[in-house]
Amino acid sequence: MIRLYDTMAREKREFDPADPKRITMYVCGPTVYGRAHIGNARPPVVFDTLARLIRHEFGEDSLVYARNVTDVDDKIIASAEAEGVDPAVITERYEQAYLEDMRALGVRDPDIAPHATHEIAPMIALIERLVGLGHAYAAEGHVLFSVPSDPDYGALSRRDREAMLAGARVEVAPYKRDPADFVLWKPSSPDVIGWDSPWGRGRPGWHIECSAMIHNHFGQTIDIHGGGLDLIFPHHENEIAQSRSANAGAPLARFWVHNGFVDMGAEKMSKSIGNIVTPVELLAAGHRGETLRLALLSAHYRQPLAWTEDVVAQAKTNLDRLYRAAGDAEPGEVDQSVVEALSDDFSTPLALARLMALDDPSSIKGREGVVGRMGESSEEWFKVDADTGAIEARIADRTAAKKNHDFAAADRIRDELKAGGIVLEDGPGGTIWRRE
Ligand SMILES: [Zn+2]
Repeated sequence: MIRLYDTMAREKREFDPADPKRITMYVCGPTVYGRAHIGNARPPVVFDTLARLIRHEFGEDSLVYARNVTDVDDKIIASAEAEGVDPAVITERYEQAYLEDMRALGVRDPDIAPHATHEIAPMIALIERLVGLGHAYAAEGHVLFSVPSDPDYGALSRRDREAMLAGARVEVAPYKRDPADFVLWKPSSPDVIGWDSPWGRGRPGWHIECSAMIHNHFGQTIDIHGGGLDLIFPHHENEIAQSRSANAGAPLARFWVHNGFVDMGAEKMSKSIGNIVTPVELLAAGHRGETLRLALLSAHYRQPLAWTEDVVAQAKTNLDRLYRAAGDAEPGEVDQSVVEALSDDFSTPLALARLMALDDPSSIKGREGVVGRMGESSEEWFKVDADTGAIEARIADRTAAKKNHDFAAADRIRDELKAGGIVLEDGPGGTIWRRE
């Protein structure tokens, strides 16, 4: 039995899917206009691990997991204008980069990856339905959701109206009947990406995308809706308002699951603050994807995770111990004590502690099914460290050669390492290296 904390109920509940043979999970995916940072990677890693647990408990084919791609958005349009290219150039580039980064962290591709630009017709149909039911109205080329038309608005975030208006940083616009009303559709000028609609040429707002995709691919109610804590309000609150209003009050999701932030220093890691570090930088610095994945799972998913050198180093130490203990055993059944820890609201720290305490090598190897990849053999895992040691020894040789004014020898070592895909960078703190 799996128990999950449901944000709507504010308590842990037994996870009993509507159809155990076809469990449905939807997680809000990336807006593709820039490279993901390690904080952006927490939800895909957390929900990938939850997907593995569900498949372990209910069967490999029991789950359909959807993660959308937001490929029309004002930030994308601004990036495309800045580069003087079509928005599709931006979105294809960064969607590809996102998939590469996530695969490097052992995240399996979702079963369904709906793209906003491919689902405009279902969005328009949903907006028309909301207008017809009196939950939305058209004004000056926009269509807005009427928040006062939904008496249950605010049930997920449990905010009162004052707090909601403050939290949403609502745009005051003359065409809004109520300041809390939010945009379902907005007009596009002729030079901006847009689609024909009953309200003129325009493009969808962000919130309508997820509601329309969920109904299009899964129906009215899904088992799990996931995402970061920051999406509870207004994004998920708005998704609920749209979906319940269109579907005679049917709930959008039976479980709402939210992960905490990744902090860097005293603040949440965020592109707008600029305190970010990306998976691609961490990988280039010699960390392995499995280490970063385990570091992201080292705190309970609902707690904040402070991203530090120590967290990464501890994950590496733990993996060294696991690889040493597993040796060259064949993967077996993962120990029930580990599954039980994960089944109690997905406690990855407890699961890891129990994994570390096991002494059956094949059971340690079996962890891939529940906590993620153990892609390498122990021999390969430690070979990378041996290679790293050899690279660092050659860098020391080069530093010594430079000190002796033997620049020919120093250049030879640099070229030799470069031929092996290792790039050196000399800085005030010494020489650092990265893989090309
Ligand atoms: Zn969403």
